[in-house]
Amino acid sequence: MDEERKTRRIRHETARRRTLTVAEKIHLSPSYLAIRFECSDFEDFNSASPDDHVKLFVPGGSATGGRPPMRDYTPRSFDKAANTFVIDFALHDEPGPATAWAIAAKPGDTIEIGGPRGSVVISDAFRSYWLIGDESALPAIQRRLEEWPTKHIHVLAAVSGPDEEIALQLGNDHHVEWVHRPASAAADASALLNALKSRFQPDEDTFVWIAAEAGVTRDLREAVLAAGQSLSHIKASGYWTLGHADTTAKFD
Ligand SMILES: Cc1cc2nc3c(=O)[nH]c(=O)nc-3n(C[C@H](O)[C@H](O)[C@H](O)COP(=O)(O)OP(=O)(O)OC[C@H]3O[C@@H](n4cnc5c(N)ncnc54)[C@H](O)[C@@H]3O)c2cc1C
Repeated sequence: MDEERKTRRIRHETARRRTLTVAEKIHLSPSYLAIRFECSDFEDFNSASPDDHVKLFVPGGSATGGRPPMRDYTPRSFDKAANTFVIDFALHDEPGPATAWAIAAKPGDTIEIGGPRGSVVISDAFRSYWLIGDESALPAIQRRLEEWPTKHIHVLAAVSGPDEEIALQLGNDHHVEWVHRPASAAADASALLNALKSRFQPDEDTFVWIAAEAGVTRDLREAVLAAGQSLSHIKASGYWTLGHADTTAKFD
């Protein structure tokens, strides 16, 4: 593969803990909550890829060994000059500690984050990109669209209905298809698979990014590979696993 098309891994030496203070809560849909935080300790924060994650150290909970529970969230946006940081929370039906904290959070509340410890940077040298995911992937998808406003990008995003579609900042060559399935079927890949199979054509000039429930990600990745897409032109992650708290899955 061309050097310029290789996915790069970067390690960040600045992945220390920081304290965020809740400034504002904005419901972007009934089940999708953006929290804008303030942080005065932000100069050396580094996030090189839209699908980076920070660890949230959730106050008030207790995990094994007396540690606070930790969960992965996307740095949706950050502004070092203004000292602000945004995390978007997909509010799911069986809230674990992170979701419960976000629902209850009030301006002035604090939470610690750590990371990102590293970034996996997808090359911008492809002609087109597919971004496929569920509600938990929307923060990374939105950030990618905003960072690549002129790229040719297809988005397939699964949400539970029209009122859960969120406003995306779209460039001229960004194409979005919302796929509806009930929240109770978030671990069933059928709806996304049907939409994918009717549109997707494998191509050496296309990169496919997938993030959703682990089983859904596995099924989508297999479908994309079966269609003839090169393994090196796919990045697939399980952002959560049905019935398991704090469980992610890698498919590389
Ligand atoms: C790299 C990365 C980035 C991520 N970024 C974001 C982000 O920006 N915003 C975001 O909302 N999520 C994001 N996630 C997903 C998030 O980490 C998980 O959803 C996490 O499990 C939520 O923690 P919790 O404490 O609410 O639930 P947990 O205690 O982990 O789980 C409790 C129960 O809820 C179920 N569950 C967990 N997540 C979901 C879900 N999304 N939908 C339906 N059921 C679920 C579990 O199967 C379990 O049964 C990301 C994950 C990864 C790996």
